[in-house]
Amino acid sequence: MNKLFNSLAGILGKDNILPGDSVSSDYYHDEALGIPPSEPAVVAFPTQETEVSALLAFCNEHSIPITARGSGTGLSGASVPPPNGVLISFERMNKIVEIDIPNHVAVVQPGVTLAELDKATAEVGLTYPVFPGELGATIGGNIATNAGGMRAIKYGVTRHNVLGLRACLSTGEIIVTGGKFTKATSGYDLTQLIIGSEGTLALVTEATLALQPRPVYSHTLLAPFKTLSEATNAVPSIIATGVDPLLLEYIDNLTMRATTERVGLDLGLTDEIKQQALAYLIIVLEGNSSTRLDEDGEALAELLDRLGAMDVFVLPKKAATSLIEARESAFFVAKAFGAQEIMDAVVPRASIPVYIEELAQLARESGAMIAGCGHAGDGNIHLSVFLEDVTKRHELVQAAFRVGIRLGGAISAEHGIGKEKKAYFLALEDPVKIALMRRIKDAFDPKGILNPGVIFDPDETGRTNDESKEQSDEGW
Ligand SMILES: Cc1cc2nc3c(=O)[nH]c(=O)nc-3n(C[C@H](O)[C@H](O)[C@H](O)COP(=O)(O)OP(=O)(O)OC[C@H]3O[C@@H](n4cnc5c(N)ncnc54)[C@H](O)[C@@H]3O)c2cc1C
Repeated sequence: MNKLFNSLAGILGKDNILPGDSVSSDYYHDEALGIPPSEPAVVAFPTQETEVSALLAFCNEHSIPITARGSGTGLSGASVPPPNGVLISFERMNKIVEIDIPNHVAVVQPGVTLAELDKATAEVGLTYPVFPGELGATIGGNIATNAGGMRAIKYGVTRHNVLGLRACLSTGEIIVTGGKFTKATSGYDLTQLIIGSEGTLALVTEATLALQPRPVYSHTLLAPFKTLSEATNAVPSIIATGVDPLLLEYIDNLTMRATTERVGLDLGLTDEIKQQALAYLIIVLEGNSSTRLDEDGEALAELLDRLGAMDVFVLPKKAATSLIEARESAFFVAKAFGAQEIMDAVVPRASIPVYIEELAQLARESGAMIAGCGHAGDGNIHLSVFLEDVTKRHELVQAAFRVGIRLGGAISAEHGIGKEKKAYFLALEDPVKIALMRRIKDAFDPKGILNPGVIFDPDETGRTNDESKEQSDEGW
């Protein structure tokens, strides 16, 4: 270990590297419920791209595993390092390099958090519209997970808003992809390949992001329904109106009660609604004309009434903000209540009602409780699973993912596969696609040093990984 520490200190300087046992244990884990913490050999804090490149070249030469870390808010265990590895924390590469107003573009280092970028863009009337629930997350982490969040229904996910990257390959070579433009057909799109690759293909050292004008007004509706299927059945009709909502979320009764009580939020709902509503839709519209928003809001309220809503509330700004914040904390509420696993599947949005119904049946059969909420507008359902028996729980979750895939969906919409969902992914995904992904991994990272154990098992990534294992036993 001393040998490794001294070699990396020679590259980064002693101030930018720490032995794994002398950093806070926060660095040993992310927010995944089922992946145990793991202490890396060392934690490196590069301050510039040349240092990342030199670190990678060194680790590649000596077959030392590397895991990148943003803020550790991930929900799939993808930034949990292997015990013998190097954890690269990007927290000291946190500069907003440029906000280019005429081109509506921001150029940022990977350690910039969403909250920092939002503050900087607000000052010039712009916004980076990707808003996952945790604003402490970094842009590097968002890119690696292809983060989504509530606003994806209007603005798409990370991959729709990243125009270009600078990235270091496992060899230490630096590539520049894309740029301050949206159109390019010049060979394979490496920007898109790296986005969502969970730190397994390349490390991002800079990102060029598309910004949007920041709308001035918003209008929030809350609609309780007597059944979950009535609420989720309403979604396609709402989208068909063309009002282009910023948010279209559903939240079940249990999650609504727990999240609002946690923050002491009273929405003024009647006792009848509190007792009878089993699900709610939250719809946020945004724009630059308050009159237009009011008109759209009224039309939407009439539609919701026709679709079976028990009532429709227009929430004042403060209550609306608190409700969204409460909804964003749903994960921590589920964790506090003892959820053992969370699911992040996606199905076509019109299939949500049948998906939830089939899941409820599976849960009943296995004696589990399932509760949750979701980005209903884009078909992404977040469910918390409560079932002590590990084997039964895994069988239930796998069966639930199988239902989602049968309906035309996927295992993860935005959290990624990481380590947590790997067994399900490898069991259920098309083997031809998995084999192709492994070949892509081998092409980018022949020695398998980048985030081994994430997406694939280390011993399943093929020939190159076995070689790298032999070499990494050389005493580092
Ligand atoms: C309360 C809560 C709410 C959340 N809500 C949402 C949501 O609505 N939508 C959503 O999508 N996610 C959500 N998340 C998950 C999480 O915030 C995202 O996955 C986020 O993108 C992780 O960013 P991070 O900086 O914390 O990355 P980390 O957790 O540190 O790392 C995530 C991945 O990124 C890789 N990585 C980090 N930096 C780099 C880099 N520079 N180059 C290459 N790879 C890198 C890591 O190796 C790892 O694979 C939520 C999490 C919490 C705790």
